[in-house]
Amino acid sequence: MKFRQKSFGDIKPTDRRWSWLEVDMDAIRHNINQAKAKIGPNCKLLTIVKADAYGHGVLQVAKTSINCGAAYLGVATVDEALELRDAKIDHNILILSQPPASSIPLLVEYNIIPSIYTSEFAIHYAEEADKQHKSAPYHLAINTGMNRVGVRHNEVLDFLNSVKFHRALELIGTFTHFATADSANELDFYKQKSFFDAAIQKMKDNGFDPGIVHAANSASIFRYPDTHYDMVRLGVCMYGYYQSDVLKDLVDLKPAMTVHARITDERILGLGEGVSYGLKYRARSSVKICTIPIGYADGLHRAGAGKISVIYKGKIFPQVGSICMDMCMFEIDMNSSSAQINYNAQIGDEILLVGKDGEASISIEELAKQCDTIPYEIVCSFGRRMPTLYV
Ligand SMILES: *Cc1c(COP(=O)(O)O)cnc(C)c1O
Repeated sequence: MKFRQKSFGDIKPTDRRWSWLEVDMDAIRHNINQAKAKIGPNCKLLTIVKADAYGHGVLQVAKTSINCGAAYLGVATVDEALELRDAKIDHNILILSQPPASSIPLLVEYNIIPSIYTSEFAIHYAEEADKQHKSAPYHLAINTGMNRVGVRHNEVLDFLNSVKFHRALELIGTFTHFATADSANELDFYKQKSFFDAAIQKMKDNGFDPGIVHAANSASIFRYPDTHYDMVRLGVCMYGYYQSDVLKDLVDLKPAMTVHARITDERILGLGEGVSYGLKYRARSSVKICTIPIGYADGLHRAGAGKISVIYKGKIFPQVGSICMDMCMFEIDMNSSSAQINYNAQIGDEILLVGKDGEASISIEELAKQCDTIPYEIVCSFGRRMPTLYV
């Protein structure tokens, strides 16, 4: 039999499997505009599109954010940067950490700007730029207390002095990253900020131009205007999710992602019958159990089993039993006020795992709490296998 890949397009992904994401690009535009209003016209915007734009689709989000005025795109890996270049996106791209030195030829060839914090990398990078008759622009990452990556804040001059002999190197930006921008306790945050301010001042005092100074992630954009400097890095809030409750009153965000499925099977169970692996759930009365094709390989965290819910016909119903790799089940109680729905639930009916239908709504933030994680991890994992429709 001949495999005809082209024919995939004849039958849409959502007609091949009944689970999908919808991403509302107007919501993303709205959230970017909220950030722009906060930072004013003189501060640049870097939009973070790493991890396939937090599961929302990197090319769509990159293009939209460029149209909304982003000066820079931020990614985590060389491959993420190359994917943007491959799609003919000819915009400033910053890799937010230092990639392996073995990837340097690609950085130079495709004008991908690295964050740098070791002199070995800086020299390699400058030498490769010389070889390709180009310059070697970079952003310096300063570690002010998160202790993840960066030159330690009190060793910045040593670093700069050790690489300054290389004329191809061009310091075009300097940044740090906050560990606690969304925490109720602000002490560590201000400590980091003062270390950063001191490091920048010391650079200037010693004749080093730090270039574009930046520090703010989503939470600090809305919470700490004095961390805006020359540019801010907008991540999770661009997608419409609150990093923590401290942000709730500071900005009006619109969530971009909703999660959809259709019922693929249904049956009525009697008292005591079990559902899914381990039969950990047992029916306490006569119930209808409906199956939907979304499991932990689709990003529905197994830790949420028995705690999460779905929306069906504008009402909330509990998910029951273990979450499988590709499917999970939910329950409609025959004796509840929703009994009418119970009798009618049929294969093909649409349900929502995240979104709003009438009075009923389930947010990414709620789902994250029920799964004992953060909104970031929830949206990243939903992006892995389900197709995305842009609305
Ligand atoms: C991922 C990342 C961000 C974005 O953080 P949000 O909390 O999503 O705004 C900003 N800066 C750096 C260095 C990052 O790695």
